[in-house]
Amino acid sequence: MRRASESLHVQHRSLLGCKHSRPRHLLPSASNFIRSRTTSGSGSRSIAARHTALSRPSRLPTSQTRQPLNRMEDTRNLHGSSGTGAQRSEEWQSQAPYRVHGQQEEFDVKHEASCHCGRVQYQLKRAVPLDSKFCHCVECQVQHGAPFQWAAIFHKEDINFTRGHEGLEWYDSAKREARHTLPCKVRCAYCKTPIMDEGRRMILLFPTLISLKSEQARRDFRPRMHMFYSQRVVDIDDDLPKWSGMAKSSELIGGSEPKEVDGNL
Ligand SMILES: [Zn+2]
Ligand SMILES: [Zn+2]
Repeated sequence: MRRASESLHVQHRSLLGCKHSRPRHLLPSASNFIRSRTTSGSGSRSIAARHTALSRPSRLPTSQTRQPLNRMEDTRNLHGSSGTGAQRSEEWQSQAPYRVHGQQEEFDVKHEASCHCGRVQYQLKRAVPLDSKFCHCVECQVQHGAPFQWAAIFHKEDINFTRGHEGLEWYDSAKREARHTLPCKVRCAYCKTPIMDEGRRMILLFPTLISLKSEQARRDFRPRMHMFYSQRVVDIDDDLPKWSGMAKSSELIGGSEPKEVDGNL
């Protein structure tokens, strides 16, 4: 567990680039790279009105959610241009975390999650994440449009995409290219909700997509630390360990000493 955790921290550094001096205005938009599949404009509805109407993830009926998916052409575009689309599609769909689980396969569902538009949905078979943390680094702020990112770490085999894995898009933040090269960020190609960061060995899921139905589930996902707290844009008044940079390899600048949870700090 400790090795996996350490590896993830390294992945996180690589995943996010952690070139925090990078000027924000130079960050490209992944959506410019991907051919847009959205044809409906937002019309005259104000952002505020739409935010109110869509503040909770919607589980759309099947007939609505599947329309723009399952198109090999789109899949090809999302996965790069080399090789044939069909071959590449089969290849990545057979590998974790995108492996399509058969109906008869044992997958003990502990949690369910959905993107905002409902086109991407997944299950988890692990109840308690390997780790859970808030990251305050500038890259997370920019890419999530939020003061900090909340990520929960899982093995790639812990996830089962039940819908919409064909409708994912990737962004390699190190190269600033919309390609599936690890590590990379994964979003819904339609509504652009961040789904996860895919590392080389692990995945960092964003728990706000997960339906945490019980108090126990909320406790299980509770963050265990703050990372890159020195780059924060808001102060957090809690007792969690606050690392100036990467966990365990930077200075503690607030909160408590880290506690060991299931072998992870
Ligand atoms: Zn979506
Ligand atoms: Zn970060």
